[in-house]
Amino acid sequence: MANNFQLPDYKAEKQALINKEYDKEKVYYCKKCLSLAIISTERETESIDFCNDCGCTDIEEAENINVWEEMYEKRYGHKYVIKPNKTKNNGRY
Ligand SMILES: [Zn+2]
Repeated sequence: MANNFQLPDYKAEKQALINKEYDKEKVYYCKKCLSLAIISTERETESIDFCNDCGCTDIEEAENINVWEEMYEKRYGHKYVIKPNKTKNNGRY
């Protein structure tokens, strides 16, 4: 027997909750290229952050993801598109 019923409402609700929490969080971005791919390296007493895209160590902090998104749009003229995690679902939906 096919188990094909879905719970889209529950899923959407859960995702909205995740997004809401995410909106409140501070984000760290590269000052040079505005990338969010910041890598932290722990050294003995200090941690060094650098951009995984351009290697720049000038990392800035944004109040939340929306602030950063605005900056990104101004710089590049389009919205940043978050790519789906390909390792989790093989790129398919
Ligand atoms: Zn960068």
